[in-house]
Amino acid sequence: MTAPVDLRSDTVTRPGSGMRQAMATAEVGDDQYGEDPTVRALEEEVAGLLGHEAALLTPTGIMATQVLLRALVPPGSEVVCEADAHVVAYEAGAAAINAQVQFRTVTGDRGRLDADRVRDALRPVGFPNTEVGAISVEETTNRGGGAVHGLALLTALRAVADDRGIPLHGDGARLWNALAATGEDPAAVGGSCTALSVCLSKGLGAPVGSLAVGPAEVIADARLWRRRFGGAMRQAGILAAAGRYALAHHRARLVEDHANARSITERVADAHGDLVDPATVTTNILYVRTGTRPATEVAAELAEAGVLVGAFGPHLLRLVTHLDVDAAACHRAAEALVAALAQPSAR
Ligand SMILES: *Cc1c(COP(=O)(O)O)cnc(C)c1O
Repeated sequence: MTAPVDLRSDTVTRPGSGMRQAMATAEVGDDQYGEDPTVRALEEEVAGLLGHEAALLTPTGIMATQVLLRALVPPGSEVVCEADAHVVAYEAGAAAINAQVQFRTVTGDRGRLDADRVRDALRPVGFPNTEVGAISVEETTNRGGGAVHGLALLTALRAVADDRGIPLHGDGARLWNALAATGEDPAAVGGSCTALSVCLSKGLGAPVGSLAVGPAEVIADARLWRRRFGGAMRQAGILAAAGRYALAHHRARLVEDHANARSITERVADAHGDLVDPATVTTNILYVRTGTRPATEVAAELAEAGVLVGAFGPHLLRLVTHLDVDAAACHRAAEALVAALAQPSAR
């Protein structure tokens, strides 16, 4: 039996031999003394790449976001973001507890914010209005299906933030996918946000790690909050080495994940034109409707055929392509999906 084609998430990748070699041979030191050369090299590299002064390695993307919100936004204030944003949907209320902020959500298009709607959502300044502390934008959108804001829209959102004198926070867990899809300049896109997080363990395929990126004083404050949140590490160069390897070897190939997502979509559209919207698939996330069949039933049947997908809604599947599924595996998955969608419901 061949290994299943796991399309549940781009977080399921396992480090390959080149990455493990880089980890095994990494130069390390105690990062809490600022003495891990590999962590420092990674932080400098990512800050430079994304047009910022400084960066901070964190164990997770959620921690990167939390330390940034804490550093950027006064407690008791409000962060404006999209209604389906990861910070709202998937962080177990972290921002309420850690950063002590509330969210004002704005409905967008596939998770993308509209600059005018965001401007309209900013409460007037003055007692007793809740203070608006930041705008937060997700690139690419997770629940929105990997949609890309792109530099023009990010720049428009930054202008709204600047007009109000508040920061634009970027949740860039899949920023690398956005950059691969658009070919835009990483420094310009990174620089469009006041500060942002990026992930090493999704599309890039490292086992652990995210970075908070921004101005030196914001990152110095974020470093303090990382310590308070219990996320400061010691010989983390072993992890940073995986991140550096991933940036060097796995960034350019993200376009392959996008091509694979597109080919699955097109195969399903050929057979079941009513169940997918090919125009919405621009990066590595795709949604497939299951018609009258319950999504859980289709997902279970696919799992038996060796294809793992997420049941995202009652009649909606979510598939994410990544480093560990090649074109042939995606072809097999598409055929299994087409066959499963042609079956009548068992119920
Ligand atoms: C995955 C993800 C995160 C959180 O990353 P973790 O490393 O799982 O904490 C944050 N934002 C978005 C948009 C994500 O997709």
